Amino acid sequence: MTEPNQVAGVLAPDGRAVLPDGDRAAPGPQESPWDIEAIRAQFPILSREVHGRPLVYLDNAASSQQPHRVLSRVERYLREQHANVHRGAHQLSAEATEAYEDARRAVAAHVGATNPAEIVFTRGTTEAVNLVASSWGGAFVSPGDEILLTKMEHHSNLVPWQLLAGRTGCVLRFVDVTPEGTLDLEDFDRLLARQPRLVAFTHVSNSLGTINPVREIVARAHAAGALTLVDGAQAAPHLLSDVSRIGCDFYAFSGHKMCGPTGVGALWARRELLEEMPPYQGGGEMISEVRLEGSSWAKPPHKFEAGTPNISGVVGFGEAARFLAELGAEAIESHEAALKRYALERLGDIDGLRLYGPRQERTSVFSFTYGDVHPHDLSTILDQWGIAIRAGHHCNQPLMGHYGISGTARASFYLYNSTDEIDALCDGLALAAEVFGGIS
Ligand code: PLP
Repeated sequence: MTEPNQVAGVLAPDGRAVLPDGDRAAPGPQESPWDIEAIRAQFPILSREVHGRPLVYLDNAASSQQPHRVLSRVERYLREQHANVHRGAHQLSAEATEAYEDARRAVAAHVGATNPAEIVFTRGTTEAVNLVASSWGGAFVSPGDEILLTKMEHHSNLVPWQLLAGRTGCVLRFVDVTPEGTLDLEDFDRLLARQPRLVAFTHVSNSLGTINPVREIVARAHAAGALTLVDGAQAAPHLLSDVSRIGCDFYAFSGHKMCGPTGVGALWARRELLEEMPPYQGGGEMISEVRLEGSSWAKPPHKFEAGTPNISGVVGFGEAARFLAELGAEAIESHEAALKRYALERLGDIDGLRLYGPRQERTSVFSFTYGDVHPHDLSTILDQWGIAIRAGHHCNQPLMGHYGISGTARASFYLYNSTDEIDALCDGLALAAEVFGGIS
């Protein structure tokens, strides 16, 4: 059903995004056939100003913005449907449960999962990885076993394994990163020969934008007898991320990076694994029967959803997944590919700007240094002109160390960004160069 404020009919039959009748914008300077004004009009925050300038929001790798329909779906849930899920015999509880389980179906579809029971709702990618490290790792990893990670992992796919190593005596190894910012697949093969129990790696690097050859890595890992966990935090919002095509065992992702609310995400895992893994936390809906002497567990996914979940967040997450599905993963990818090409060209022309990450097989996340300007100073200056970028280590301290730097500035784009905003960023960088008395 169309929510209030929702722009109906966003996609024409040919896949072109359009405004409702009578509200059409002139074609913009986009390379892709994406009606950027129609898309932007759905995100209320994009029309605000920051320091008296139009907001240019380029911090999407950290968190994306939410369209009207997600905001209004959450509001409608809270105003009209809220009750606790799975336990009430009254109408509101039935509606809340239906909304919650409907969101599970939408989120499952987003990652190509045929069985919604393979989706466990979590607080986000971080909790999804912690769940696997704690539950699967605690049950099936022994002292001396190896877990293979990479040097480009976000701390959320590193620290949970360090904690596991501290508890079990397992050994962590790390696939090297090439100077271009791709995974060193020869090093990967060398480390695979050591027969790790699990390979846990990011689908897309949050600092470099690198799209890892996820199917190839999974196939090689399986051939070596290892399970695979893919950190999809930076892929699920931007790329067609289909777990059945990827073939992995675990896939973790977050709602707030894909137009949904914060504090909600998901772990997709193969049903057999969820069956054999012990609970992650105890209490609430995760039980089948509780006795003083011991308890038995509900079936997955409920076995892993202890306590009252973030119901409104899950409902919003489901609506975000439907929003992205209606836009179409291919259309989103193609718009972002156009932004990426334009950004590579424009940023590549700026003296003193060093861009990290590969030119090919990458998303529209751009980490850079600008002469010897500190990334935080650059971010602060750009903020004065309404341009929001991120500065720092991006929860990638080992990767920053690999490049011998403490951090970068990072501009990251999403489906509602325009080439005009890339121009604004470049103008901002030129002005910043003047403020800093030139770039060296
Ligand atoms: N993994 C990657 C690659 C990320 O970029 C992020 C967040 O930036 C995370 C994991 C953690 O996600 P969350 O904070 O939503 O749990």
